[in-house]
Amino acid sequence: MNIRVLGCHHTETQSSRLSTLLIDDHIALDAGAITTTLTIAEQAKVTDVVITHHHYDHTRDLLTLALGGANSGQTVSVHSTQDVLDHLQNHLLDGSFYPKFTENPNPPRLRLVPLQLEQPKKIGAVQFTPFAVEHSVPALGYLLSSDGGDDVFCTGDTGGRFARILEKTKPTLLVTEVTFPNSQAEMAKLSKHMTPKLLEDELMQIVGTSSAPASILVIHMNSAAEPVIREELKMVEEKLGIPITAAEEGMVLTV
Ligand SMILES: [Zn+2]
Ligand SMILES: [Zn+2]
Repeated sequence: MNIRVLGCHHTETQSSRLSTLLIDDHIALDAGAITTTLTIAEQAKVTDVVITHHHYDHTRDLLTLALGGANSGQTVSVHSTQDVLDHLQNHLLDGSFYPKFTENPNPPRLRLVPLQLEQPKKIGAVQFTPFAVEHSVPALGYLLSSDGGDDVFCTGDTGGRFARILEKTKPTLLVTEVTFPNSQAEMAKLSKHMTPKLLEDELMQIVGTSSAPASILVIHMNSAAEPVIREELKMVEEKLGIPITAAEEGMVLTV
């Protein structure tokens, strides 16, 4: 499985993009940075978008990807649980911002595909299994599995308490968010996001066991606080004894 980091930030600037991982060139995990990073030819290859939750920084590019679909005539499948899809259908995709891309043109640009919690769904060569995670709105983490490759668990946005999912799934790579530095722990608690200290506390529950991931990739960093977050993550890495990489846009991993 090939994972390309299109966007790994909580806030957008000239040099930072919103959350999107591109899997095997054709599956986007979240839609915060699809059209801001991909060429028209690359966008035309995107056949599926898997959504963690409805927040705008994870769904925005559904509209711009659908609009750009005029170039290819393709229908993109948008996968998530029914409650997340309902929210998208009733707000972002209700036809008030742009044409109702789930109905127009014919065939429509977007097709909503419901997933069931903890039920695997094969998309291309990758199996996606959604798990409910703690966040300020209904949100999902996904276990990604492919034949012969390492398992990856992506938490999506979360305030923690996902060690229980790692115990169940035992992924080799953990992709998790760390939005705020330790000094903004109160804000993190209120908005259900992670800090480096919360990541340390979460992983300490399973470090040294077979449930501990071999490595961690951190995304969804707040751009303004990123230098501090990166420094604090180095300390967490030392304490846990697990390599932690703070992601950068354009990074490619093969797992
Ligand atoms: Zn977010
Ligand atoms: Zn969120």
